[in-house]
Formats: sequence, structure tokens, C-alpha cells
Amino acid sequence: MSDFLIRNARTVLTMDDDSRELTDVDIHVRDGVIAEIGRDLPAGPEVIEASGCVVTPGLVNTHHHLYQSLTRAVPGGQDALLFGWLQTLYPIWARFGPEEIYTSTLTGLAELALSGCTLTSDHLYLYPNGARLDDSIAAARDIGLRFHPTRGAMSIGESDGGLPPDSLVEKEAAILEDCIRVIDAFHDPSDGAMLRVGVAPCSPFSVSRELMRDAARLARDKGVMLHTHLAENDEDIAYSLEKFGCRPGQYAEDLGWTGDDVWHAHCVKLDTQEIDLFARTRTGVAHCPCSNCRLGSGIAPVRAMRDAGVRVGLGVDGSASNDTGNLVAEARQAMLLQRVSRGADAMSAREALWIATRGGAQVLGRDDCGQVAVGKRADLALWDVTGIDSAGSWDPAAMLLAGPMKVRHLLVEGRQIVRDGAILSIDLPKTVSAQNRLAHRLAN
Ligand SMILES: [Zn+2]
Repeated sequence: MSDFLIRNARTVLTMDDDSRELTDVDIHVRDGVIAEIGRDLPAGPEVIEASGCVVTPGLVNTHHHLYQSLTRAVPGGQDALLFGWLQTLYPIWARFGPEEIYTSTLTGLAELALSGCTLTSDHLYLYPNGARLDDSIAAARDIGLRFHPTRGAMSIGESDGGLPPDSLVEKEAAILEDCIRVIDAFHDPSDGAMLRVGVAPCSPFSVSRELMRDAARLARDKGVMLHTHLAENDEDIAYSLEKFGCRPGQYAEDLGWTGDDVWHAHCVKLDTQEIDLFARTRTGVAHCPCSNCRLGSGIAPVRAMRDAGVRVGLGVDGSASNDTGNLVAEARQAMLLQRVSRGADAMSAREALWIATRGGAQVLGRDDCGQVAVGKRADLALWDVTGIDSAGSWDPAAMLLAGPMKVRHLLVEGRQIVRDGAILSIDLPKTVSAQNRLAHRLAN
């Protein structure tokens, strides 16, 4: 098992309960766990020099559609609003199969790892041509990131008045059956789990009320988490009022979609009552600032949510609505967006980084991750602050104001995934070339 000494870290942003910032300390990692933090610890079998580095917990990504990394910057969708954007991309996604899911997921995970992410969820809600959740899980195992895949689904196709083509929707009974299959096959509830499965109908406008309700029952029966998109933009609110006769928060509450085992993506348009509902029920939010900007959805009321006590994490969202997958850049964007709407003191660089680490871990129900503390999992990001990005900074720990956008080293469960800016666990050039070959095939 792993045994590392991270030696002489310039600053450690622990994100622990006291938000301690430690200087010139060593971190001893053993068997996937942080064993000791202190000065002049004895060197283990392997040493990582960290003298020019800020060490943070690995960043946690709470919302993504990794498969979309194969459809970035598609011309017809570049400037479309959400629904038009979906209609441009659905026919392309309908041509995906297992190979596309595996390669796009691996590419997306590699991009996340290089930006400091150690734990990511994924929301895969279409399964054309024999594709399965298993294909994305295989990619996560190959690269070695901690993974929370969610079994997404769509059941209302065009012929039933829905948005997606009929070829991309599934029968609701089959959806629930496959949820049970993947939970039984892959979900690991134990401390330090590398893989946990969630249940995640795509959105209230792509599945029936019955499936939303049954999915919640199934998730509770199996002890797994629930995830979907909610209150993303004005069209979304209008649809909810027209079809369901209530706002999205009410719809979620009525169907069992609130609680500390639920997290919703976006929530750009939550009103005060809905924010109170989420705080009271400890329902989580995946804030996706770049995607919200990219699709013109608006600015999520993150300051108000945090002040009310809502648990908030960050998400890069799908690679086709971002179109990048850089999680530390997302943290910077989250900080900047709150300042646009509320002023320069609305969110500090340190708070945004807290949301990106500890906040995300809380949203995903991972008390064992998200902080640099003895006994927690050794998911660590080391950021080199001796380079051009930080040059001239008076406070290198305020990384999101002036700092690197890629990690120097990354450890997951005590295993080194990135060393000196290069991914160790997969052949990255080979992955990129496979990805480009598949994208070319889809485009022609
Ligand atoms: Zn999404």
C-alpha cells in the first residue's frame, strides 16, 4: 500500500473545522489515509518535495456529463439557449456507443485530474447502442479517480411531447431495473470507497412524475444518493409552473427529492422560500458557474444559499456546455460571479476554494474526504506557486486570485495520479488521439 511523505509544504490549506492554514509542514500518507501532519517527520519509502507548493484537499466535482467531452464547441450549439442547444446535440449523442462513453469519460477525467480534482460525480442519462454505466466506471478505474457515477435517465421522448428523440429515451421499468443492477454491482457504502452509485433521472422535464417518485423510493431503499437538474433557467421555471402548477422546489419536495441524500444541479433560479427549504432539509446544490455563463442561464444565488446554510459544491457541468473541464477555474469563476451580483466582498478566494473542496465533499456525503486532516482519505492536490501564475503574489494561498490553473502533483487514496504535471495512470496522448478520432467520426 501507499507510503509517502509530502515534505516541507509551503502552505497547507486544511479546510478542517478550524480552517487552519499550516506553513512548512510535512504530511505522512499511509494506506490511503493521512497518517500524520507536522514538522520534520521521518521520511518514508517515497518523498514528494513540496517546498514551493500550496497543498489543498483534492477538489470535488459535484456535477458533470463526462460523455459530452466528445461534443465540445459543436458549431450549431455554440450560441444556442438550453433547449435549442439540447436539440442540436441529441442526434449526435444518439450515435454514441460503449467506446464513445469510455473514451470521452477517460478524457474528461484526465482533464479534471490535471485541474486538481480527486473526486467527481458523473451524470450519464443516455445509453444508446449498448452503452452502459459500466463503460464510464471502467474509465474511472483505469485513471484512478474517486468516482460517484449516477444512473441517469430520460423517458419522455418527442412522440410524448418531450424534448429528446425517441431513440434516446428508455422505458421506466427498464430504467429502474438497471438502477438496481448497477447499485448491486458497483455501489460501495464503506468509508474510503472509491466508487458510489447514485440514482439520477435527467430532469423534471425529461421523465414522468412517477419515475421521479419511484427513483426516490428506490434510492432510499438502497441507501444511495439522488441527483437531478433543477431550476436551471427561466424556461425551466416556466415549464414547471405550466406543467406541474408549481415551482421546482415544491415539485421536488412533493416527490421526495429533498434531504441530505439529495443534491440538485444549477438551482440558478431558486427563490427565498426554496433556499429556506433546501437549508431546512439539508438538500445539496451543485453550482456550475461557467455552464450558467456559457448558456446564459443567470447567476445562482450562492451567497444567499450559503448564508441560509445550504450545502453548496461546485460542478463543471457537461463538457458541451462549459466547454472546458477545469475545476479550479470553476472555483475562480464562482468567486467572480458572486462579486458581479453582490460586490467585491461577496466571496473571498478562500471561501470559493472551501466550496470546491470541503463543500463538494459534504454535498456528496463524503465526510471522509475534502480536508487535510489526520484520519481523512489522502486525496491531495499540490499547486506549484513558484511559477508565473503566482509571481508577485503577496498571498500565494489566495490561489484563486493569482495562482496556477493546473496541479503539479495529485494523490487519490494515497496513490499518485499526477506527477510534475503529467498523468501517470494512463497514456494521455493515446487517449487524446482516440478522442479526436471518435469526434472526427461523429462529425462526418
Ligand atoms: Zn448538467
